[in-house]
Amino acid sequence: MCGIVGYIGTKQAAPLIVQGLKRLEYRGYDSAGVCLLADGGIRIEKKAGRVMDLERAVDMDQLHGTVGVGHTRWATHGVPNDANAHPHTDQSGTIALVHNGIIENYLTIKKKLLNAGYTFRSDTDSEVLAVFIGMLYETLQDLEQAVRTALAEVEGTFGIVVISTHDPDMIIAARRGSPLILGIGNGEYLVASDAAAVIAHTRQVVYLNENEMAILRRDGFQTKTIANIDTHSVVEEIAFELEQIEKGGFEHFMLKEIYEQPITFRDGFRGRLQTEEGTVKLGGLATVREKLQSAKRIIITACGTSWHAALVGEYLIEALARVPVEVEYASEFRYRNPIISSDDVVIAISQSGETADTLAAIREAKLKGATVIGMVNVVGSTIARETDAGVYLHAGPEIGVASTKAFTSQLCVLTQFALYMGRMRGLSAEEGKRIAQELERIPEYISMILERADDVKAIAHAYAHASNFLYLGRGYNFPAALEGALKLKEISYIHAEGYPAAEMKHGPIALIDENMPVVFIAPHDEIYDKIVSNIEEVRARNGRVIAIADDEDTYIENVANHVLRVPRTLPILTPILASIPLQLLAYYIAVERGCNVDMPRNLAKSVTVE
Ligand code: GLU
Repeated sequence: MCGIVGYIGTKQAAPLIVQGLKRLEYRGYDSAGVCLLADGGIRIEKKAGRVMDLERAVDMDQLHGTVGVGHTRWATHGVPNDANAHPHTDQSGTIALVHNGIIENYLTIKKKLLNAGYTFRSDTDSEVLAVFIGMLYETLQDLEQAVRTALAEVEGTFGIVVISTHDPDMIIAARRGSPLILGIGNGEYLVASDAAAVIAHTRQVVYLNENEMAILRRDGFQTKTIANIDTHSVVEEIAFELEQIEKGGFEHFMLKEIYEQPITFRDGFRGRLQTEEGTVKLGGLATVREKLQSAKRIIITACGTSWHAALVGEYLIEALARVPVEVEYASEFRYRNPIISSDDVVIAISQSGETADTLAAIREAKLKGATVIGMVNVVGSTIARETDAGVYLHAGPEIGVASTKAFTSQLCVLTQFALYMGRMRGLSAEEGKRIAQELERIPEYISMILERADDVKAIAHAYAHASNFLYLGRGYNFPAALEGALKLKEISYIHAEGYPAAEMKHGPIALIDENMPVVFIAPHDEIYDKIVSNIEEVRARNGRVIAIADDEDTYIENVANHVLRVPRTLPILTPILASIPLQLLAYYIAVERGCNVDMPRNLAKSVTVE
């Protein structure tokens, strides 16, 4: 969510910061701002709207200074307007701060400051922190100490960067619950909330840990805890290439990412799948193998698209490993005092590895003694580092706000996890081999579906005007229906609901008329006939049916208005293939409606607030 980019070095900071902010635009935001230190002064430019609006209003080449910080805000406290945009300053206007996250006790601190005669220019929680640091500076006369003292009193989450005319050759950064990384250059340093903002300058990075802060100067940097204990920082290399975060000729990142799936899916099983033995090698789980073997229950916790992947995971793991699985919204799990024991394994799924609700859920699970496993995409992310073991998705950077390739990679990893557990718990080598062999064919099947994108485009054209959609599926494809509906909602703003197909008659059937497109996922599995009956029920009420069916299905045309074809595969793998036309359908409908596909309104890519 939102972005931070700071720079200290020898180059002009403003254009570099703005370029970094643009690389973070995908995360979702509503205002942008920069602050530069030069000639003993401080200059702040900020504006509601896009980074481009800020650039239009201010000539960045005229903003001088080799130390600066920029921010893209995703409003939590106060509407998105110019005053609420970051950076914020203290009362004296000499200390500037950008902040990602939420200061939960800001009202208590604000009251104290108001009583002491301080005033505020914005409605944000972040400005309260800036003013608080300024007040502490008045007595301490040491910026680092003022920041540390303020942060010790703060509740909530923050990634902050502070610069000041008091010490114009220094940047202070600190984090709790909101990611920050340092980019290590030659005589120059960057600090950012996401590696995408630094990769154009350096591949060497330090991931700040929870409750850690960094002091950056041109000739070096220091890390310590907020409580002032020196820490040892490890310099790591960014695990992706610059081209991976560029559009590469596609009109949108989302489309590029949909088309990357034959590769990203393969990357998810490469070096893991042992087809001949019918098993999977998951190095990241070696330390918890015995725990998995004896686990009495698995709980998967996630949000949004990852939660849908988790639901598919429930079906997969129960089918192959015969272990009871529960799937929980992370935001609910954390606050309902869940019953967890040390026999439980909790899996957290998150593309970014920074999802605040999911992070809070795993902390709760760990506290209660469960073994916690992460399935995340972003290497080095907080969830990856706070879990006992894990499996990376290897989908590469996902820039489009609506998740596509990360979802299919989650299914790739979950299928392998189910196979891995299954083989420990009685699944035969022969059955394992059959699944592994078919999993290996999936990338080719995805390519075949992508070649038929024009079929989806035609349907998108015909239904782009609809105001409601229903998505129905059964078994493994019930979660795929939920995900299809979510994709459409997210990027086209059409109201869409996913349901288990048989549930339709218990309520949603009342909605069906000639204006209601209904998407059915109808693979040829053991409940195919039931799904066909559900399709008939919709047709009998004049509903318009778009069916996703496999290439060998010769019956479906008799009942559906439109058919989108996918290759036939094992029932457990059908949600992966069904997802591809559903992604394309949402994409083409959103494009038809003129929506901003990569940056849908109100959404953020990585939701780092609760
Ligand atoms: N809570 C802060 C605000 O509303 C920061 C939001 C963000 O993370 O961008 O200004």
